[in-house]
Amino acid sequence: MLNVAIVGAGPYGLSIAAHFRRHDIPYRIFGRPMDSWLAHMPKGMMLKSDGFASNIYDPDREFTLRQFCADRGIKYADTGVPVNLDTFAAYGLAFMQRMAPEVEDRMVEGLDFAPGGFRLRLERGEILRVRQIVLAVGITHFSYVPEALSALGPEFVSHSFDHHEISRFRGQGVVVVGGGASALDLAGLLRDSDAEVQLVARKSSLKFHTGPPKQRSLWKRVRHPQSGLGPGLRSCFFADAPAAFYYIPQALRLHLVRTTLGPSGGWFIRDKVMGRLPLWLGQTIQDAKVKNGKVSLRLHAVDGVEHDISTEHVIAATGYRVDMERLRFLSPEIRARMKSVNGSPVLSPSFESSVPGLFFAGVAAANSFGPVMRFAFGAGFAARTITRAMLNRRAAAPLPAHLADEDAARDDQALEEQSVRS
Ligand SMILES: Cc1cc2nc3c(=O)[nH]c(=O)nc-3n(C[C@H](O)[C@H](O)[C@H](O)COP(=O)(O)OP(=O)(O)OC[C@H]3O[C@@H](n4cnc5c(N)ncnc54)[C@H](O)[C@@H]3O)c2cc1C
Repeated sequence: MLNVAIVGAGPYGLSIAAHFRRHDIPYRIFGRPMDSWLAHMPKGMMLKSDGFASNIYDPDREFTLRQFCADRGIKYADTGVPVNLDTFAAYGLAFMQRMAPEVEDRMVEGLDFAPGGFRLRLERGEILRVRQIVLAVGITHFSYVPEALSALGPEFVSHSFDHHEISRFRGQGVVVVGGGASALDLAGLLRDSDAEVQLVARKSSLKFHTGPPKQRSLWKRVRHPQSGLGPGLRSCFFADAPAAFYYIPQALRLHLVRTTLGPSGGWFIRDKVMGRLPLWLGQTIQDAKVKNGKVSLRLHAVDGVEHDISTEHVIAATGYRVDMERLRFLSPEIRARMKSVNGSPVLSPSFESSVPGLFFAGVAAANSFGPVMRFAFGAGFAARTITRAMLNRRAAAPLPAHLADEDAARDDQALEEQSVRS
């Protein structure tokens, strides 16, 4: 029986794999390497996180983004030089080759209980018995489309997650819905690609980060210290103390996750958006219909005025909502057994869910460990904590499962035969 399977090969899965490897914890890792970054963010995008906060973590901090950029002659600074999407994706692949080369580019299609652990079904038929699972599936399954748009067919509405190559919209009408970084990036880049883009947002004004100041006074540095989630004491706490965040009472934790780091664009995107495209701010979409091959949107403004706008395609850049029910590869039994609050799993201090042996890292862990889990910056903490849990467990139960559990060994053999047959 396999000791641990990591499901997901983004910044979290790769960081965890690098830590397991270093500590000789036997594992396999599955998923499309850096998939969210290579295929689900718009080409030309720049990261909102600073260079120093855009790392993938090996235990010795040997292969940082800074190191990668130095090796390749790419311009880098801890702050003030935005990181290109292409650079970060290439860094992720280089990190994988160096620190976690065993990534198997296969999706997990099913996960169910089995004696002594779990039964995992992979794309192309292989079935494995695994004692523990770390799910680091990121944003893959959680894209959210508002109800008003969800009845439009896929040729008329898509989610920002569906887009990487956006040049196909050249000359076409596109309405981007949303007021956060995804929406602003996409709108600016679509405009660059000569799409006829409009932006619709509920907020009555758009927010952008302020650019990096040339020099910060001592007072500013004390009052607003720099952190992996931006400047300020609160951000410092969220970025650097996820273990303490865990012990905040649940209702307050959920409130903080919901309200911290609200929608805003990077400072570098302001000039790509402001003055370059029609902005429908303070508007909610009341109705969406297809008329004569075009989408017609009825907008309702805060002051009660209504407008109709029409376009060829709508992109909902309306974010992601964690919901365990959307992890369809988890068996109904696992989903039913798992305790969750507002769709997110309830986790132990070591990221383990109420299903023993099933761990969650990344955005699914945000309600437990705070907003840092929505960003690559949280991957180091997650990797260290989960690795420690695995090592403690190994120390407490040194007998390999197949010696401890003869039934499990028999089951393994049956599964191997089944995998060979399929
Ligand atoms: C537009 C946009 C901009 C962003 N900008 C930033 C930024 O500047 N800085 C930042 O830190 N964060 C940013 N984020 C957040 C970013 O998504 C997370 O930081 C990051 O992706 C978290 O990494 P992860 O490993 O948890 O998940 P992901 O990178 O989403 O990786 C998920 C992995 O899980 C795999 N997977 C999913 N389902 C399965 C399955 N069934 N079987 C096997 N594998 C599976 C995928 O193939 C993939 O390998 C941005 C997000 C968006 C949408």
